[in-house]
Amino acid sequence: MALRHLRKYKYEDLIYAKGHTPRGNVHFKPKSAPARVRQSILRARSIELARVDDGVRALLDDMVDTMREMRGSGLAAIQVGVPRRLIVVEYGGTLLKLINPVITEAHGENHGIEGCLSIPGVYGIVKRPEKIVVKALDERGKRIKVEGAFGLARVLCHEIDHLDGILFIDKAVPGTIYKRS
Ligand SMILES: [Zn+2]
Repeated sequence: MALRHLRKYKYEDLIYAKGHTPRGNVHFKPKSAPARVRQSILRARSIELARVDDGVRALLDDMVDTMREMRGSGLAAIQVGVPRRLIVVEYGGTLLKLINPVITEAHGENHGIEGCLSIPGVYGIVKRPEKIVVKALDERGKRIKVEGAFGLARVLCHEIDHLDGILFIDKAVPGTIYKRS
């Protein structure tokens, strides 16, 4: 059962954080910057884990439940308010629970639509590598290497970006961000 609460934010509250301003013609343009930008935890850099213990495994399991309940294909710990370098990904029948993931290789490029569980209803086209290699620890603390292509590579890149406070709206092709209610 998912016990963690997924934090959701409005696009308008995220774009002006960190000096980010929307590029190009955003299809829906906020009239003005909020008077006081609420600094979202999503903009924080997550911290590496020194060791993998039962607490980490329990959090990963909870993140998997939360991701499935929300019908997402990936989730980073920061999205449930925990600034640690942990992600879960479920794509094409593959479930991954990764600790301290790092992209070590990236090849080619691929454009596709992305959204984010933390920014409901907002989508945009993002350029990602076609193929990547990720090094991480698994839930037993063992070093592993994961290869991902196309959709899986996209989800992995999106989630790993979350660990550095980077959102897909920062990388979306100018003019492609749209809102669906
Ligand atoms: Zn996301």
